Amino acid sequence: MSGEQLALDIEGMLHEARVQSTPEWSGAPLHFTTDYYSPGDLDAAFEHWQFLHAHDPVQSGSRLWSRSIAVPESRQVGGHGFVLYTADLRCEPWKHAEKHEGCMCVGDLMYQAICEPCEWNAIADRENGVVEMWHDHALPGWRELPIVPARLRMLDKVGLSKAARKWIEEHYPRSMQVPGAPIITERRPFGTRHVPSRSPWGGYDLSHTAVDPERIVEGSKPLRPKASHFPAPPRSAAQAPAVGLGD
Ligand SMILES: [Zn+2]
Ligand SMILES: [Zn+2]
Repeated sequence: MSGEQLALDIEGMLHEARVQSTPEWSGAPLHFTTDYYSPGDLDAAFEHWQFLHAHDPVQSGSRLWSRSIAVPESRQVGGHGFVLYTADLRCEPWKHAEKHEGCMCVGDLMYQAICEPCEWNAIADRENGVVEMWHDHALPGWRELPIVPARLRMLDKVGLSKAARKWIEEHYPRSMQVPGAPIITERRPFGTRHVPSRSPWGGYDLSHTAVDPERIVEGSKPLRPKASHFPAPPRSAAQAPAVGLGD
């Protein structure tokens, strides 16, 4: 046995002893749950799970809720809070052969939005979905907001363009120009994710697809597939035209 292996074994035994001497867990569940728990409770459960499994020979997903790294916790909006969590329920088929009962098999990355002051939560399998539900909760009426047209060349290097800001100031109701309030912007066929912190007031920049999915976007040409999106057909590979010809 190598010295390194020995050190690992000892560390594993010490860890096992620490786990044994830890009082029984009484916080949020150490498995997937749809019940409301405060962000503090969810974070503590996630940390505890990681402690318990720190020396597992095979690391696999916890299926617990953990904070979304892609979305900063936003400041309060009219007394409401917003924290976004994700839980990975994607199937781990290598687990099934021996033990099926452990598998949730929801098969998706799940999203949860939490408003702590109201002890409110919403869960969906799409990030946009929970973001919309949270706005329904915190800012009812947001669905009536004007859609900022794409022709304003929405973004420049520092964020929202001057033209877009001006348009928003003129067209948005005063009551909705408050810290944390969202805007709705017209998007191209791609790029319809709701973007946090991009409204003039630090709220969401929501895609128009949330309120008007059938909208025809002004000036938007039908997408021409780029040659590079597809594998070259094997039969005529030798004569394939150069990528991007005619663009
Ligand atoms: Zn709330
Ligand atoms: Zn499964």
